[in-house]
Amino acid sequence: MKDCIFCKIIRGELPTNKVYEDDSTLAFLDIHPVTPGHTLVITKNTDSYNLLDISEADWLALARTVHKLAPAIEKATGADGINIMMNNRGHAGQVVDHPHVHIIPRFKGDGLRQWDHSSYQDGEAATIAKKIRGML
Ligand code: AMP
Repeated sequence: MKDCIFCKIIRGELPTNKVYEDDSTLAFLDIHPVTPGHTLVITKNTDSYNLLDISEADWLALARTVHKLAPAIEKATGADGINIMMNNRGHAGQVVDHPHVHIIPRFKGDGLRQWDHSSYQDGEAATIAKKIRGML
């Protein structure tokens, strides 16, 4: 059984600024916000690590809470938009090994930039799409 920092928050062993809770999920302010109002939505279930091993039920619960909170966070912070972000595994930037979705309010001139884009070589996109279909 894992015992990460978010597991401690679920057990009430660490303080947080809670914004929402239901039977399956908990949402609180990120301690190091990208922008004010940056919120984390986590599963209360502690048996998975990220999107790659979460149960469908827990994922749907996370999605439901994100859908509920995003408009409230946008209104409460006066943001001009919202980014939803989930880091899955270390190479993707995951630091805390517990399923969590970032809700990040965006403000004009906040200085955040999104990732760069690239292009496919001839035939490369079709090959990758076929490989992905083959894994389903
Ligand atoms: P990630 O890089 O996707 O694993 O994100 C983990 C996030 O957890 C980071 O944005 C941290 O700032 C945040 N975090 C770590 N410890 C706490 C804590 N005790 N309370 C609130 N947020 C935390």
